[in-house]
Amino acid sequence: DASSKAKIQTIHGHARFTSDPEPTVEVHGKKYTAPHILIATGGQPSMLTEAEVPGASLGITSDGFFELETLPKRSVVVGAGYIAVEMAGILSTLGSKTSLIIRQNGVLRNFDSFISINCTQGLQTSGVDLWKNSQVKSVCKTDKGLEVTIVTRDPEKNNDEEKIRTIQEVDCLLWAIGRQPNTFGLNIRQMAVDTDEKGHIVVDEFQNTSRAGIYAVGDVCGKALLTPEEAVNSRGKENVKIYKTSFTPMYHAITSRKSQCIMKLVCVDKEEKVGVTSSQGCKRSDFFF
Ligand SMILES: Cc1cc2nc3c(=O)[nH]c(=O)nc-3n(C[C@H](O)[C@H](O)[C@H](O)COP(=O)(O)OP(=O)(O)OC[C@H]3O[C@@H](n4cnc5c(N)ncnc54)[C@H](O)[C@@H]3O)c2cc1C
Repeated sequence: DASSKAKIQTIHGHARFTSDPEPTVEVHGKKYTAPHILIATGGQPSMLTEAEVPGASLGITSDGFFELETLPKRSVVVGAGYIAVEMAGILSTLGSKTSLIIRQNGVLRNFDSFISINCTQGLQTSGVDLWKNSQVKSVCKTDKGLEVTIVTRDPEKNNDEEKIRTIQEVDCLLWAIGRQPNTFGLNIRQMAVDTDEKGHIVVDEFQNTSRAGIYAVGDVCGKALLTPEEAVNSRGKENVKIYKTSFTPMYHAITSRKSQCIMKLVCVDKEEKVGVTSSQGCKRSDFFF
């Protein structure tokens, strides 16, 4: 196959670092070492415990979503990140009556606010039943499916009473409440590889960890996205220029559900470069914007 042609040896099994003086990895009791070791172990979906939400384990995560063999008639998706939004959108578009439960007022809140606001509106106009300021309190199983009990309270409304409501006959409850890096069981702490408070491996711009010869890349590092706020922080307000547009594409001119197309270009420096690093090399003039 392609990897053996490229002289790549594949070793199947769970890898973890050993306590040898030189960085060493062990798989099924056999040790491997190299001058350069790259960690690319990705992440996994976070789950709530039964103590946090009784019945939580009756739900699935994005891994279980890909194992579904039939379309659930009634779905409840919990979370406000891109996986929750994407999966609620897929289920709803395929014809599942879908509710999306979010803790605050909008989805994708750690994305650019332009995307967050428009996506929150877009979801509602596309037929997803959005429950804002809401959290799942408990889940139980009945003959007709799951009963998902939800508590809603708007913190911005003074003295807003908690409302407790139940969604019945749910065929699919999907938790999409975040992901955690696969650093547990790797033994990286004892390797002096620094992690942040969520367990992500800390790297510099060249993917070096705090230990020479060990590098990390991908989701295990959990690097933030470039937003205008970050561009302003790193480049200075005077060096950042933002172009925005939003319109209803011609395709939707005669449809009843008007889907918006929104675009925002974050440019830095005099040349109006677009992208995170100068090596990406695009300028605003390269776009029809
Ligand atoms: C539902 C979903 C939808 C997504 N949609 C998109 C999208 O549309 N576009 C996009 O760009 N990105 C998308 N992503 C993100 C994308 O999948 C990840 O950013 C990408 O897969 C990260 O790659 P990675 O190599 O860092 O980790 P992964 O792809 O997670 O790979 C890590 C691998 O390491 C293995 N592993 C872990 N620990 C060990 C160990 N100790 N020993 C040996 N092996 C180990 C794991 O089993 C896994 O095979 C999506 C993610 C999810 C969950």
